[in-house]
Amino acid sequence: MIETRLIDGKAFAETLRARIASDVTAFHAATGVKPGLAVVLVGEDPASSVYVRNKGRQTLEAGMASFEHKLPAETSQDEVLALIATLNADSSVHGILVQLPLPGHIDAQAVLATIDPAKDVDGFHVVNAGRLAVGLEALVPCTPLGCVMLLKDTLGSLAGLEAVVVGRSNIVGKPLAQLLLREDCTVTIAHSRTRDLPGVCRRADILIGAVGRPEMIRGDWIKPGATVIDVGINRITGADGKNRLVGDVAFEEAQGIAGAITPVPGGVGPMTIACLLANTLTAARRLVG
Ligand code: NDP
Repeated sequence: MIETRLIDGKAFAETLRARIASDVTAFHAATGVKPGLAVVLVGEDPASSVYVRNKGRQTLEAGMASFEHKLPAETSQDEVLALIATLNADSSVHGILVQLPLPGHIDAQAVLATIDPAKDVDGFHVVNAGRLAVGLEALVPCTPLGCVMLLKDTLGSLAGLEAVVVGRSNIVGKPLAQLLLREDCTVTIAHSRTRDLPGVCRRADILIGAVGRPEMIRGDWIKPGATVIDVGINRITGADGKNRLVGDVAFEEAQGIAGAITPVPGGVGPMTIACLLANTLTAARRLVG
């Protein structure tokens, strides 16, 4: 039986954040500029409020400036666009993040399209998505970037490996497939219309779950020795009536089959904010020159 290795995203993210903090100190000493991240939150979605608070705290801990703009839920689209225009023009702001989801009366695509692509640290602007697709330097979405960092740390070179990404969202699945292609993997993107999903998954040396369905990917869908990255974050109520978080992969079933796997929580999740900080520093370096 294979001994399944745990990929510790929490520890990796801590090391990454420490490295970013020291790079921020060096950047500040060389240029006199402190990288600045502006986060825009519209409304009071409880999960979004927690994310924004965590982002603000970790931004400050990395030695960067944090600008939080909390707007009431009834804020008009024009007011949000006007704030983004102000942030685009503000030289102390190097990264702009609009927390999703936005209230229903605001067109998220219109808002994302207004962010200066050079400050688009979430990497959701079509200019950055297009630059990634054609192999140009881009700001890359944080969660996929974190997944590839964990994979390279676990496996070294990814060249020639068969990668299957389950999920094709613009936020995770599609950019992750592009990044794996850039690492010379042979990439398959699976989705809700894929035929014989278990069979497709069994081909994978690298199997990624980015679906949002609790424990959908079963142990016998995993090729022995494969590296499994579980992006899913699903809240379920256990038999004891308590809420807990599970991924898209049946974690217990994967033990003894997968070569390595990320846990949920403590796998991909902590990498997302760390990569947001990395993108903010990257944006500041490019903007300052
Ligand atoms: P979306 O809902 O945007 O996309 C889900 C994808 O899964 C779609 O492409 C969909 O296919 C596919 N899918 C749905 N059902 C099935 C099925 N039965 N079989 C195969 N494919 C299926 O989700 P996101 O990409 O935004 O997020 C995915 C998960 O990752 C969620 O659990 C989310 O919470 C988590 N997440 C975690 C982050 C982190 O920091 N760790 C960050 C972002 C997301 P189709 O296109 O055909 O509908």
